[in-house]
Amino acid sequence: MNFSPAIIAPEQLHIVLDAGHGGRDNGACVGSVSEAELNLQIVQVLAQELQNHGCAVSLTRIDEESLSSPYASNKKVDDMAKRREKIRNLNPDLVISIHQNTYPSESVSGLQCFYANETLGSKEYATAIQNQFNQSGLPFSKTPKPTDFNLVEHSPCPAVLIECGFLTNPQERELLQSTTYQQVLAYHIATAVVQEYSRQHTTVACTN
Ligand SMILES: [Zn+2]
Repeated sequence: MNFSPAIIAPEQLHIVLDAGHGGRDNGACVGSVSEAELNLQIVQVLAQELQNHGCAVSLTRIDEESLSSPYASNKKVDDMAKRREKIRNLNPDLVISIHQNTYPSESVSGLQCFYANETLGSKEYATAIQNQFNQSGLPFSKTPKPTDFNLVEHSPCPAVLIECGFLTNPQERELLQSTTYQQVLAYHIATAVVQEYSRQHTTVACTN
């Protein structure tokens, strides 16, 4: 008797990437760095990397603008509702929302993953990404945590939010803006996601 794992091809893996903030909402701003701008840059690098890994990728936000209607009374609420609606319509296998962190103390640094507590599979993706970083020698921040961030709340599919690093840490702020580091980040996220997808979708075929 032998067991042969059947690995699902990653081209069946459809991921929605969400660049946090946008439009009038810059997110965290430290010095001349706007989180919204940086999130979009990293999403674009990550989209390319995931495509190189054979994944299908869609984006919630494709430029600096938010998704809210100019006539909405509460633009933030409307923007979030539009993002959730887009995700529901795209019906992906995974949502990754990209953000940058801040903290009152400059010394705090490192990538940290959060996951949609209610959706099965989210914690596993967050753990896979976090472990990949914890083993990579790059700055990281311990263990993944659940989040009630409203984009990933009631998510129809596994969803993770990645705080790529701390804009309040001067060294990490420099790193996060460099194309080389953005590519390293993207490589590790894509590697972890593809491996975790294969792990979750590997069926063990039993042949006698
Ligand atoms: Zn943010």
